[in-house]
Amino acid sequence: MIIIKFLPYGKHYIDKNDINAVIDVLNSDFITQGPIIGEFEKKLADYFQARYAVVFNSGTSALHAAYFAMGLENGDQIITSPITFVSTSNAAIYLGAKPIFSDVEEETGNINASIIECKMNDNVRSIVPVHYAGNPVDLKSIHKISKENDLVLIEDAAHAMGANYNGYKIGSCQYSDMTIFSFHPVKHITTGEGGAVLTNNSDYYDKLLTFRSHGITKENFYSPPDGDWYYEMQHLGYNYRMTDIQAALGISQLKKLKNFVERRRKIARIYHEAFEENPYFNVLKTNENDSSYHLFPILLKDEYHKKKREIFNILKSQKLGVQVHYIPVYLQPYYLNKGYKRGTCPIAESFYEKEISIPIFPAMTDDDVITVINTVLNTFKKIGGDK
Ligand SMILES: *Cc1c(COP(=O)(O)O)cnc(C)c1O
Repeated sequence: MIIIKFLPYGKHYIDKNDINAVIDVLNSDFITQGPIIGEFEKKLADYFQARYAVVFNSGTSALHAAYFAMGLENGDQIITSPITFVSTSNAAIYLGAKPIFSDVEEETGNINASIIECKMNDNVRSIVPVHYAGNPVDLKSIHKISKENDLVLIEDAAHAMGANYNGYKIGSCQYSDMTIFSFHPVKHITTGEGGAVLTNNSDYYDKLLTFRSHGITKENFYSPPDGDWYYEMQHLGYNYRMTDIQAALGISQLKKLKNFVERRRKIARIYHEAFEENPYFNVLKTNENDSSYHLFPILLKDEYHKKKREIFNILKSQKLGVQVHYIPVYLQPYYLNKGYKRGTCPIAESFYEKEISIPIFPAMTDDDVITVINTVLNTFKKIGGDK
């Protein structure tokens, strides 16, 4: 009997060095609020060539903190993409702000820079592009729109660790005010759960630090300190801290990021060759040297849209852990109940109808890659008849 292994759409890779790094912290004096957090932050800032990095217990809390740091509040609006995970926009709602969804490009799933300004009004404070699947958005154009409208540009780079844009690393904040990463296990490197905000702005940096820890500070007091024990809570914050256990894993994983991304690019290259000009689906338009290939989406051609559910189920039954990225956020019941309308972003809605993400992760073997290619092409041949 042949045992076929399940291939998820994405998966972490942990080795002996990662495990030993975690064990070292478990044997040390601090498992949280110790020295490893600062070390991880310094390594992140150095690696991505930003002045500051602040780590959090998730990418979602990192987004919440970034929105807080820029001063987002009740009545404000942000403009973002509907083709994202719900937390990009949810985190703005945490602060009483309203997300406005602007439509995407058909070929990339990225927010369409040329139509963002149609959504502009006096309440918009920020633009939050998402580098969908790891393929950077048109940052230069979005940067220009941000400057002209006096907005804060926050990159949701949860998919784009290791990606480049115009010769700069995503995370350097060369064209933005802040960049957020996620360290969830399906993302490029993992800390179990975790996230980070990178920035070159010292004011944002200070706010990110206090927001992570209840709004408490041990310096720059408003009042004269009562004694050495004194601390001050200056605004409402949360307990969004990462542990030192996680940070040690993060430091160890960061060393592998370059290899992880190279492997993902290699797999993407093999897929591109195998799927070139097939009659069933298109692949995402990406720049090979810039994308970090967090996902490998295929986009069904018109005549297959209606068969998506069937195709998805057949792939799944053959142990391909396919997934769909994403249901446009405003079509979620919570958003529809708040008054968001179907039809707001027609390109995003049709993108959703045709998108399926197939497995891509660094630990895939060449045989795994061939298995995916054969399974996918044979499935379509069966569904569509030989073309
Ligand atoms: C994963 C992800 C997040 C949230 O990260 P968590 O670490 O899971 O909280 C935010 N935005 C996008 C686009 C993501 O893919």
